[in-house]
Amino acid sequence: MIMSKILKKIKRALPDSKCGIEYLSAYTSIRVGGKALIVYPRSIGDIVKIVDICESRDTKYIVLGNGTNILASDGPCDSVIISLKHFVGCSKQGETITVLSGTPLSSVCRFALANNLSGMENLYGIPGTIGGAVYMNAGAYGTSMSDIVDNVTYYFDGKIRYFCVKDLEFDYRHSVFQDLSGAIILSVTCTLASGEHDTIEQKMQEIISLRASSQPNLASAGSVFKRSSAGPVSKMIDSLGLKGKRIGDAEVSTKHAGFIVNCGHASCQDVTKLIKYLKDEVRAHYNVDIECEIIMI
Ligand SMILES: Cc1cc2nc3c(=O)[nH]c(=O)nc-3n(C[C@H](O)[C@H](O)[C@H](O)COP(=O)(O)OP(=O)(O)OC[C@H]3O[C@@H](n4cnc5c(N)ncnc54)[C@H](O)[C@@H]3O)c2cc1C
Repeated sequence: MIMSKILKKIKRALPDSKCGIEYLSAYTSIRVGGKALIVYPRSIGDIVKIVDICESRDTKYIVLGNGTNILASDGPCDSVIISLKHFVGCSKQGETITVLSGTPLSSVCRFALANNLSGMENLYGIPGTIGGAVYMNAGAYGTSMSDIVDNVTYYFDGKIRYFCVKDLEFDYRHSVFQDLSGAIILSVTCTLASGEHDTIEQKMQEIISLRASSQPNLASAGSVFKRSSAGPVSKMIDSLGLKGKRIGDAEVSTKHAGFIVNCGHASCQDVTKLIKYLKDEVRAHYNVDIECEIIMI
């Protein structure tokens, strides 16, 4: 009832933006998630209007980048989902690029290549948006977002604000935004270095091949667990012979034990049961508590 009233209000306030009740499973890379009201702002003005409507109705909102690090529950979602899919664009000033937060990270890497800018080749192929990548301090093959981000603008508590890199509290798969509930990253400025087109391109191709050879090609949300103090969790899971362990349609990837894949119609419940099982097994055999990297909504 509340959601249908909010939907009407959003449709009136944002007549040109897509908005409706949809299954989140269509918008998460692991293909799991129940019904939700999803709205697709195109501008900062749209984002401000949506937040105002949610706050006036005492309703929470959740920002969705590309849904590649998310496990959404099976039931209907009681928050409004703000998808930044249509909030995209890149610009360049010298060796600095500024990117709207919904832009896919791989498109940003290609933009850097087109402008002969080096520094983010190792991030090519991470399937999220640049906003999600800042939120998670995503990284691969020795490069993290924290190595290239210069500053971020974001919307919080009724104002557009600015963080320079030292305010972002970047750490392994952590940024300040994880502790700033309701903040929406709007744009990200990165400083790169000029490079040689063919060298950058070759590196990007190498990275894509490495990913293809080591990661499953079934639906997943990437690495389920953060690296633990005792080492890579995938190695512990593998050593316990748990590759291929299955609950419902959720399975520990046979290619990479750090991934849980959706073999067909996995539910959130299947995935969470399998996560609990893996945590219990690792605790029992290694006496280590492992922490999830994926975010539950
Ligand atoms: C096959 C595969 C491979 C992967 N490989 C890697 C890898 O190598 N390295 C790595 O670090 N990760 C990897 N991931 C995980 C994932 O791609 C990253 O964490 C990515 O940065 C998430 O971005 P996203 O846009 O999909 O964010 P989402 O999954 O949509 O959201 C993640 C979190 O960020 C928040 N968020 C997103 N955008 C914003 C915004 N604009 N403002 C505020 N909050 C926001 C969301 O609310 C949510 O809490 C992989 C995932 C898959 C499926």
